[in-house]
Amino acid sequence: MTVLALDIGGTKFAVARVDADGTLLDRAEHPVGQAPTATLRGLVADFAGDGRTRRSLTGVGIGSAGPIDAAAGTVSPINIPRWRGYRLVAAVQRLVPGVPVTLAGDAQCMALGEWWRGGHDCGSLLAIAVSTGVGGGLVIDGRPWTGRTGNAGHIGHVIVDLDGEACVCGARGCLETIAAGPGMVRWALAQGWTLAPATGRPDARALAAAARSGAPVPLAAFQRAAGALATAILNTASVLDVRDVVIGGGVAAAGDLLLDPLRAAITARAGMPHLRDLRVSSTTLERDAGLYGAAALALLASGEPLRPTP
Ligand SMILES: [Zn+2]
Repeated sequence: MTVLALDIGGTKFAVARVDADGTLLDRAEHPVGQAPTATLRGLVADFAGDGRTRRSLTGVGIGSAGPIDAAAGTVSPINIPRWRGYRLVAAVQRLVPGVPVTLAGDAQCMALGEWWRGGHDCGSLLAIAVSTGVGGGLVIDGRPWTGRTGNAGHIGHVIVDLDGEACVCGARGCLETIAAGPGMVRWALAQGWTLAPATGRPDARALAAAARSGAPVPLAAFQRAAGALATAILNTASVLDVRDVVIGGGVAAAGDLLLDPLRAAITARAGMPHLRDLRVSSTTLERDAGLYGAAALALLASGEPLRPTP
């Protein structure tokens, strides 16, 4: 049994063929470019074959940057302006007729991929992608938990500061306003952090480099983001009773700079006994987590039982 996994990001598309025991048979990625639909068509044709060369696929799983509407099968990735309400599921179905196609959000696929192939050895898991936004996904008892509208897991919009900054979503004080890269940089600049113009743009990567060299404001920005993440994680875990939390995304690539204060804040603030042994770890699959998750989505849709494997 072989499925096709598609990871639709804002700047690149990745594709892989994956078999039922989770072996990634082959993989490719391509920048989205100016013609996203043609890029998609080319990648799928290369991997699924066409006509007589069609490889035997039992399903296609897609993880896409949001917003998505899983029920309608449409996506509107923020960084792909040509795709607004784009009928992605129907487009892929036309490319591989007769093969079932399943769609979920990219962070939901990250959660499913980490649960399946990330070696975390757990039944349930919360995954968080900390990047230019904060995304999240949930696996509960071995199934992706996508919710009524397909939007479950959006931990970036858990409110952590009642009087906080306005968020793009329309609410105030969301986790994303504090812990996403742009929010951290905005706060650091407001506290007086400066970057010599020759050093480049003041972005999350520059902030991490400055924190690593001991600059107090950048260090404080990471502490503040870690504190907000800890609050959102504790709130989520207190409702869902999950133990395992996996952190990925560009800002999380700062590693211990974020994870050390995050673990410390969780330990300091955890109340109820079931919150005291949360396990927070980095993504182990990194950029392939979404592909593994998309493959798992297709396998689950075909009725294949999945168990986490190391
Ligand atoms: Zn929000």
